[in-house]
Amino acid sequence: MNLGFNMKAYKLQKLNLILFSFIISVSLYSQDIDSIFRVRGEKYFGFVLTSEMRPDDFTNMFSIDGAKGDTIIANAGLEQFKKFLELGIPYFFLPHPSEQIDFDAVNIHHSNQHTNWNFYPDYDFYLEIMSDFSVNYPEICQIHEIGTLVSGRKLLAARISKNVGSESDKPRFLYTATIHGDELTGYVLSLQLIDHLLTNYGTDAYITRLVDSIDIWINPLANPDGTFHFGNNTINGAKRYNSQNIDLNRNYPDPEAGPHPDNKPWQEETVFFMDFAESMKFNMSANWHGGAEVCNYPWDTWYELSADNPWWVYTMREFADTVISRSPSPYFRSFDNGIVRGSMWYSITGGRQDYMNYFQGCREFTLELSNNKIPPPNRLPLYWEYNYPSFLNYIEQSLYGVRGIVRDSISNEPLRAKVFITNHDIDSSFVYSHLPAGDYHRYLYEGSYDIVFSAPGHNSKTFYNVNVGKRRTTWLNVELSPVEDGIGAENNSLNIRIYPNPVTEGSLFISSERKPGFIELINSAGIRVFNDYSEETEICLDTSELASGLYLIRIHNGKGYITKKIIIF
Ligand SMILES: [Zn+2]
Repeated sequence: MNLGFNMKAYKLQKLNLILFSFIISVSLYSQDIDSIFRVRGEKYFGFVLTSEMRPDDFTNMFSIDGAKGDTIIANAGLEQFKKFLELGIPYFFLPHPSEQIDFDAVNIHHSNQHTNWNFYPDYDFYLEIMSDFSVNYPEICQIHEIGTLVSGRKLLAARISKNVGSESDKPRFLYTATIHGDELTGYVLSLQLIDHLLTNYGTDAYITRLVDSIDIWINPLANPDGTFHFGNNTINGAKRYNSQNIDLNRNYPDPEAGPHPDNKPWQEETVFFMDFAESMKFNMSANWHGGAEVCNYPWDTWYELSADNPWWVYTMREFADTVISRSPSPYFRSFDNGIVRGSMWYSITGGRQDYMNYFQGCREFTLELSNNKIPPPNRLPLYWEYNYPSFLNYIEQSLYGVRGIVRDSISNEPLRAKVFITNHDIDSSFVYSHLPAGDYHRYLYEGSYDIVFSAPGHNSKTFYNVNVGKRRTTWLNVELSPVEDGIGAENNSLNIRIYPNPVTEGSLFISSERKPGFIELINSAGIRVFNDYSEETEICLDTSELASGLYLIRIHNGKGYITKKIIIF
């Protein structure tokens, strides 16, 4: 059954039919709240919006997990829920996805005898599986530790590519799953995807091409403390939040709501992941969830269209249409036949998708794989069959658009340059070339574009009418000539004053009509030497510890950015 898209109901969409069939325990009366929350530290519940309420009113109170018409499904920790109780809104509790599990030990196992991916590996077996990938395929697979949590559990990624680990101009691609610890379909499907890429390399021409030409990273378990809350050998306690009862997919800096939209410190998982994203500068990615069946694309935080909305609609349609062609109804048929722009479903702040798109220049979408967050394991191979060609297609898309290498015309050294499309780029949609290779990857819907390349200390260069086709690569290598004095004109439309320039006394002042937001200082090698967020309108940066030279200062708030070249003596 396709419920269609209901603009009226606060631009919300359906949750899923399965979840609603569980709404049985209506509890409008007082209960021993503390004991209910003691088991997992979190609880799913639902309530109905009245005409005065909007879903956005609750975005910062707890995690909205889904919405159907006027009914909101949410997950909260105890303190969050007590605040909700003060509002006096009638509610009903829902059973937790991991409370429903009735799987026997065969399905939650630790065995290297498996021939099919129809089971949930326990934590130790997960480590073993990952390790075996690199042991069995050392030429094309390495296991990378993104970080080790206080609990001792690890955030791991399999890196898969020809000549794995050697720097190159390949696009960098990432899949991660299970940032919500009770959404386990992606945990198993991403392990199967690693297996599929490795075992078909060298025999399947399509897979071989992907592994040869793309630096592919896959992180199957982004919240191991949530998944293994009851211990490493069971998923019966799997929960959405991490060990501190914090929703990791609301914990990221947000282009609209600032660095801490949930008013919580960045969690260790968040910090590890941000460092990982910062060091890798992925070009494309997707974050795999469960609880719905849809491709959710930017933006989540605001209603404006992304600059590359046509590209998003095209790639999401390709993903969803391929899934639909391989699966029975009603799988992936809700929303607009399997795709939805995030904020049109329900707006969230602090999600990883918007963080990756806005702050990391990466094309990330949120993939919801199954209505049932923890499906019976014998159904996992079905989800694989429905989805895996789309998984591969989306990886392949990272090869297309405009790409090339930016170099200094005199020294031939690769440059970190800004790649900006005139009359097109907004809201941080531009990209930078990446060192050490100087490669850039700009994904664009078919059409003709004017592209400006600029780098500190270099003359900008514009290429007019660059043509982009569907599933085609437009190669454009660029050489930028260095300028004598290195000072360019400033873009000061946000009314920000940066002085003095050159900086001679060890202090750089920033004066702004409104709070400037994120401030970055980038040296001439393209390395970010300073990065902070400011709530003040008058700021003094101590530059006395910085090496003399040319720098780029970049200031961006929710509505725009400025960049300016400065010299520090
Ligand atoms: Zn989720």
